Amino acid sequence: MAERITFYLACTVCKNRNYHYARNKKKEYKVETNKFCSNCKKHTPHKEGK
Ligand SMILES: [Zn+2]
Repeated sequence: MAERITFYLACTVCKNRNYHYARNKKKEYKVETNKFCSNCKKHTPHKEGK
């Protein structure tokens, strides 16, 4: 069984945790992605955290 962890993507501007998702620990993702922040009401860079 693959180990699964829940991560979140937090807006780097307002630090709001906008996106939660579970993924495989081994799989590599981009550390920063551009996502829509509902708090800033625009697209901002989001950083991944636990
Ligand atoms: Zn924001």
